[in-house]
Amino acid sequence: MPKCRICGRKAVVYLRHSRLWLCSEHFNEFIENRVMRTIKRYNLIRKGDRVLLGLSGGKDSVVLAHILSKLRESIGFKLYLAHINLGIGEYSEKNAEVAKKISEKTNAPLIILDLRKILGVGIPELALKTRRPPCSVCGVVKRYLLNALAVELKANSIATGHNLDDMATFILKEFLVQNLEQIPKLAPRIEGVKDYLVAKIKPLYETYEEDIKKYAELNNILYVEEKCPLADETTLTWHLKKHLRDLEYRFPGLTIGFIRRLVKNIEKYPKPGDTIRRCSICGMPSSGKICSFCKITEKALGKPMGPHAREYIKEIV
Ligand code: SF4
Ligand code: ZN
Ligand code: ZN
Repeated sequence: MPKCRICGRKAVVYLRHSRLWLCSEHFNEFIENRVMRTIKRYNLIRKGDRVLLGLSGGKDSVVLAHILSKLRESIGFKLYLAHINLGIGEYSEKNAEVAKKISEKTNAPLIILDLRKILGVGIPELALKTRRPPCSVCGVVKRYLLNALAVELKANSIATGHNLDDMATFILKEFLVQNLEQIPKLAPRIEGVKDYLVAKIKPLYETYEEDIKKYAELNNILYVEEKCPLADETTLTWHLKKHLRDLEYRFPGLTIGFIRRLVKNIEKYPKPGDTIRRCSICGMPSSGKICSFCKITEKALGKPMGPHAREYIKEIV
C-alpha cells in the first residue's frame, strides 16, 4: 500500500502531475496551499478586500467557496456568495438548493438573483428568441448580473471557479483561431474600472480539475454533479478540453507548465483593441454604444432590461 510522502501514513491520493502520494490530510493541505500561492503570486486578494464569489452549485465554485472560507481569516477579507438562478428547470432549482447549503456551511452571506423574477424568462427562452447559442446568452447574463451586483456591494473583486484545465483550454482555443488579443483577457486577474466594472479573479487558475473533484469527494462536499441540459458537447472548446486531459495523462505536468509560462509572457501578446465604454442605456461596461445584456433583452423582450435589472439589484442589496 503506498504511503503519504509527508507523514508516511496510508496514502489515498496519487497526484500524477507532481508524482506524489498523499494522505487525505496532506492532500487538503497541498490544494489549499496551492490556492493560497496562486492568490499571492498573482495578487488576487488583498487584506481588507470584499470578494464576491459566483457560486453556480457545480464542483469548482463550491470547492472554491470552501477553500476561500478557510483562507479568509489568515488573509483578512470578507467573502460574499452570489448565485444566479438561470431558470433552466429542475437543474437550476437543484443548483439553488446547493448554493443555500454551501452558504450555511461556509458561513458566508448568499445573494440569489433569480432570472425569472428579474426578466420574467430564463436562459432557454432568451436563447430561443434571440436565436443565439444558450451558452453565449448565458455568459452575457451571468457576467452582467454578477458585475452589477458586485458594483452595488462595493466589492473589490469577483471570484469565479475557473480551473487550470478550463483556462488552458480557453487559451489554446484562442491560439488555434489566432485571436491573440483575447489571451490577456484570460489572465488570473483582470483589473476593473472604478464605479462600474469590478476586477475578476480566478483563484483556481493553477489547480487541476481532477484535484478539485478529489477534494470535493474526500471532504464530502455537496455539489451538483449533473451537467446543464443546455451544454453543447460539440464545440471546439469541449473537444480541446478532452484532448488536453489525454495529453496531460501521457505527459504529467504539461498543463501547469504551459499556463505558468504563458502568464510570464502574457505582456507580449497584443493588447485587446476594444476600449471599455459605458452602455448608453444602463451605464454598465460595454465595448460598443449598447451593452450585450441590453441588446439581448431588447431583442427577446422588446425592451432593453439593463436599467430594470440594476434597479432590482439595488433593492435587494
Ligand atoms: Fe449556461 Fe451553457 Fe453553462 Fe448551461 S452549460 S449553465 S447554458 S453556460
Ligand atoms: Zn500525510
Ligand atoms: Zn446596457
